[in-house]
Amino acid sequence: MSTQICQAVAAKDAVHTRLTENNITVKEQLPLSAHTTFRIGGSAALAAFPENAEQVRTVLLACREYGIPCALVGNGSNLLCPDEGFAGCVLFTTAMKSITVDGNVITAGAGATLASICCTARDLGLAGLAFAYGIPGTLGGAVCMNAGAYGGEIGDRIIDVTYLDSQTGEIRTVPGAECQFAYRTSRFSEHPDILLSARISTEYGDTNAIRAEMEDITARRREKQPLEYPSAGSAFKRYPGYFTAQLIDEAGLKGTAVGGAQVSEKHAGFIINRGGATSADVLSLIDLLRERIHDLHDIWIEPEIRTLSDCILP
Ligand SMILES: Cc1cc2nc3c(=O)[nH]c(=O)nc-3n(C[C@H](O)[C@H](O)[C@H](O)COP(=O)(O)OP(=O)(O)OC[C@H]3O[C@@H](n4cnc5c(N)ncnc54)[C@H](O)[C@@H]3O)c2cc1C
Repeated sequence: MSTQICQAVAAKDAVHTRLTENNITVKEQLPLSAHTTFRIGGSAALAAFPENAEQVRTVLLACREYGIPCALVGNGSNLLCPDEGFAGCVLFTTAMKSITVDGNVITAGAGATLASICCTARDLGLAGLAFAYGIPGTLGGAVCMNAGAYGGEIGDRIIDVTYLDSQTGEIRTVPGAECQFAYRTSRFSEHPDILLSARISTEYGDTNAIRAEMEDITARRREKQPLEYPSAGSAFKRYPGYFTAQLIDEAGLKGTAVGGAQVSEKHAGFIINRGGATSADVLSLIDLLRERIHDLHDIWIEPEIRTLSDCILP
């Protein structure tokens, strides 16, 4: 074994030991394909599942001390992971899934799924979150991406966010109004800090009416979206003045495939994994679509899907 490989193995073992000593669940060689909705990606050398802020800080500092890259992931539903895997540690937030309610304010951990938050709200007759039902992410991923659908955006509902400053390791709280929410972006997509929890505002409503709205949204998603295939949702952001899916459709690109990656026949905005797709297939297909749309309209559409390298903490 070369000296470099020996050093990398020693660093990984040291991080593993540090995390275990701090009662943090850690796994080796975790297949990322099993932890992303695209079902694509090789293995992560390490995967950590911290349960609280202190454990998150421990993961971050251990990786930094031993020179191992650390990538921040929620439910992996907007994510493309590399075929060759990741030689660092993926910090999954999914164990931080607490949800508490005080009046019409919901406080949820970064790893709470939007589905569980929406169902909690529905059962308590708290309205205003039904739009988010069916977005298969965590609260942390949703705030980072300012996830939205059917006329709503999570940013409009955020009272404040508590996060770990990834530079200083300090815990801070920032009001929603200072989170720089805009279409599919927020301060967390630009500053790689780690959202720990957020307070969400709702309105008092009626459980049956909220349930009906959620069922309607579910039916609309089933009808329009290729939910029967693995994907990461909309592949591209809207381009100002255009609906990207419509541009792709009108360009006759529905069904276009590279390897196992294909533009959905059902919804041109989705790239699906029709079986055995690699990360390289998806990236080539994204490039092909961008080029074709550029040729036709002289605009460059931007991917909404993030890659694991976008998630690496400083
Ligand atoms: C079938 C399907 C339908 C979808 N429909 C929609 C839709 O209607 N609207 C929509 O907006 N999106 C949609 N998506 C995309 C995706 O579900 C959302 O972007 C979701 O909010 C991502 O959450 P996640 O936890 O999976 O994040 P990940 O995919 O795990 O991560 C996304 C980004 O968030 C960052 N991140 C994750 N957790 C944290 C944290 N705690 N602190 C800071 N940053 C963090 C990651 O580093 C990464 O950059 C869909 C996806 C699928 C597969």
